[in-house]
Amino acid sequence: MERKVRVRFAPSPTGPLHIGGVRTALYNYLFARQHGGDLIFRIEDTDSTRFVPGAEEYIIEAFKWLGIKFDEGVSFGGEHGPYRQSERRDIYKQYVKQLLDADKAYIAFDTPEELDAKRAEIENFQYDASTRMQMRNSLTLSKEEVDSLIAEGHQYVVRFKIEPGRDVHVDDIIRGDVNINSSVLDDKVLYKSADQLPTYHLANIVDDHLMEVTHVIRGEEWLPSAPLHVLLYEAFGWADTMPRFAHLPLLLKPVGNGKLSKRDGDKLGFPVFPLEWHDPKSGEMSSGYREQGYLPQAVVNFLALLGWNPGNDQEVMTLDEMVQLFDLSKCSKAGARFDYIKAQWFNHQYLLAQDAIDWTPAFDKILRDNGIESTPEREAQVVDMMKLKVIEYVDKEGNKKKRNISFVSDLWPLTKFFFVAPETYDKEDKFVRKNWKEDTSDMMRQLVAQLETIDDFSVEGQKAVVDPWAETTGARPWNAWRVALVGTGQGPDMYELSAFLGKDETIRRINNAINSL
Ligand code: GLU
Repeated sequence: MERKVRVRFAPSPTGPLHIGGVRTALYNYLFARQHGGDLIFRIEDTDSTRFVPGAEEYIIEAFKWLGIKFDEGVSFGGEHGPYRQSERRDIYKQYVKQLLDADKAYIAFDTPEELDAKRAEIENFQYDASTRMQMRNSLTLSKEEVDSLIAEGHQYVVRFKIEPGRDVHVDDIIRGDVNINSSVLDDKVLYKSADQLPTYHLANIVDDHLMEVTHVIRGEEWLPSAPLHVLLYEAFGWADTMPRFAHLPLLLKPVGNGKLSKRDGDKLGFPVFPLEWHDPKSGEMSSGYREQGYLPQAVVNFLALLGWNPGNDQEVMTLDEMVQLFDLSKCSKAGARFDYIKAQWFNHQYLLAQDAIDWTPAFDKILRDNGIESTPEREAQVVDMMKLKVIEYVDKEGNKKKRNISFVSDLWPLTKFFFVAPETYDKEDKFVRKNWKEDTSDMMRQLVAQLETIDDFSVEGQKAVVDPWAETTGARPWNAWRVALVGTGQGPDMYELSAFLGKDETIRRINNAINSL
């Protein structure tokens, strides 16, 4: 019988969720939706030394923001709980016992010092079939010795007894048949008496089995663990229901070799985390896509295409379209280069697709931070006039660059004059020098006289008066008019700007320019 598709995203709460982890979760989400299956959110917190407070909450908040919904798991509930591994100790103990009873695992008492001594003695020491009979474990000690060591309170670990010389096949949806020989594997620790917790490997396999996971979709960094996982499924007698694997391509640095790191982000000025993160220990702050002004749909769209594409040229896609088009088997094996300029491009696309009014909560906040009070309606007018402008900026390497407006915050330097009149006029400004000559004040006085007569100060209302006047007198007031209202050569159409400012403010600014220039 076909099993219902069930996939899981299983982060360890060791810090903020890396953007690569977000992509893994997204691919799981797309796959689950596409197959009418379930997506589980499991917290793998068996390594207490790496636990970071707040990380779990952070991850949940990040997915909420991104619109990636889980069907069950930590904070979502469900029938297969608890979904936090630290709450499943007793379950794992049973399965550790099962392996011990079946002679597929053994108890080892070697202390760290003893292990170090062995490493010094044997080059490239590995705890495996070739060495295990030289060690202090339940294979070399008598049952009585083992029992009394445990009774005396000696700490131990349980190790997986890997049979050497076997071909282990991992059937990977993306990579095909990955084949390794079991002799290269070591007898992995599955359980530690010290904290009474299993290691990642055991907990991961037991939970995937109990939670009826059908597909394990995860980052390439887990591929080396997969053969061990295959052997564990066999050892438990679960080979029939073993999930299918899909190991996703690595996310690579924007330039150079290697995997994308926080350092790359810091250097080039882009976040590698979905949300801002304040490290509770170091106090260090890491920037997030949300706080940088990205729209969640843009982030999701951009991430979806890092390692997969729909096979046509389509780039902008809704989540529903992605669910339709996504194909796990068409994911690339090769690493996907992280292109943050492309991320900005996506944000630009998604911003433009919004109504101007949807820009205003963020825009209003920026205005307020700059001491300006306005209304959503007026702010939306400004957005419509300015959203297609290009901004100039200096990148982290000091290069002057231009780009489309990609964030609401890009608007502010371009739109200040809508809300604040130029205080002084810079006579050295190129545009001012070129367009405000000796006789300009005269022309502007005439313009003011014309504007005074207008009742309807809309674009059409102004044109109806100003255009015939300009025509008959040959006056060309527009650039000087811009100087008066803006202070330099920026901004939208002059009539639109004047209509926005209104008759009084427009005339006031022109008079001010006449007096100071
Ligand atoms: N806890 C692992 C992680 O942090 C899960 C790996 C897996 O999906 O098997 O990514």
